[in-house]
Amino acid sequence: MKVIVIGAGASGLMSAYICAKCGHDVTIIEKNEKVGKKLYITGKGRCNVTNYCNSSKFLENVVNNALFLYSSISYFKPQDTIDFLEEFNVKTKVERGNRVFPESDKASDVIKALKKACDKYNVVINLNETVIDAYKEQNVFIVKTSKKTYRCDILIICTGGKSYSSTGSDGFGYELARKFGHNIVCPVPALCPIKLKDKWVKQLQGLSLKNVELYAYSDKKLILKEFGELLFTADGISGPIVLTTSSYINRKNNIELFLDLKPALTEDTLEKRLLRDFDLNKNKELKTVMKGLLPVSLIEIFLFQCQINGNVKINSIKI
Ligand SMILES: Cc1cc2nc3c(=O)[nH]c(=O)nc-3n(C[C@H](O)[C@H](O)[C@H](O)COP(=O)(O)OP(=O)(O)OC[C@H]3O[C@@H](n4cnc5c(N)ncnc54)[C@H](O)[C@@H]3O)c2cc1C
Repeated sequence: MKVIVIGAGASGLMSAYICAKCGHDVTIIEKNEKVGKKLYITGKGRCNVTNYCNSSKFLENVVNNALFLYSSISYFKPQDTIDFLEEFNVKTKVERGNRVFPESDKASDVIKALKKACDKYNVVINLNETVIDAYKEQNVFIVKTSKKTYRCDILIICTGGKSYSSTGSDGFGYELARKFGHNIVCPVPALCPIKLKDKWVKQLQGLSLKNVELYAYSDKKLILKEFGELLFTADGISGPIVLTTSSYINRKNNIELFLDLKPALTEDTLEKRLLRDFDLNKNKELKTVMKGLLPVSLIEIFLFQCQINGNVKINSIKI
């Protein structure tokens, strides 16, 4: 059968390879000048290819609609991804959190493997060609591109999501799939920084906090708490715990975030610690003593938010 795949990202190259391996005549149409443009930036250029775990553990970590992936992951397990890469000469290694990376730390090696797999089964890849429209006439798909019109028996849409549209994924595929009768769940950002309404965050831009705990509430209900590293940006927060949190709150309403700056300390321990610091620094100003507890750039904002005068002398504080 004649198969056309729109898009030469990870999914396009993989599906083209599988179809060609099954004996189909496959052509990929890609608007970019090269294949796998987004893959180059994955995993900070290292490409986290899969997680070294079994299929059920894998699905446990899928935030939304894990069941949708059930049959794909049962058919093509994380180990199959590793075996596929090994078959095309990319050795892998397992890092913290069972994350699997190419041993070379180069995402480009993953792209090379996908391209090699396609080449092995004579997949035709047409670059610099944009699909403009596609429709069905009887049992044949008609695919119109910036260069010509194709006909095929099977059409696979692999045009990616909407993130980093500069890599080619601009949401075109959603409209095409909708035209063919598929229901499209409105896409929302995930694994991304979070913008905050509070204007004071700008003053903290660049401040990185380790070992803090972020609590996310929707309609006053706790959705999740994440412990780890957080970074302030010009208009919000980022860092590992924020990226994870974003995937859990992106379809929820009335979000409130709380940051525990000292999650390792109970209220009681924190109070004792404060009183000890106060005792040792009776003649100093509160804002000076706070330096032992918080990063300098955070102190002023922290005291302002708590409506506490930082210039007050410790010996004049009444408890
Ligand atoms: C910064 C970042 C880091 C990431 N890190 C990881 C990671 O470490 N591990 C991981 O598993 N995932 C990671 N991801 C997610 C991963 O990149 C995507 O899940 C993956 O690239 C999706 O592949 P895809 O083939 O579906 O789409 P894409 O890679 O977006 O490919 C779609 C292709 O379709 C082409 N196309 C679109 N419209 C047309 C058209 N009309 N005509 C012709 N061609 C068209 C595009 O040019 C593009 O090449 C990361 C994503 C980002 C943004």
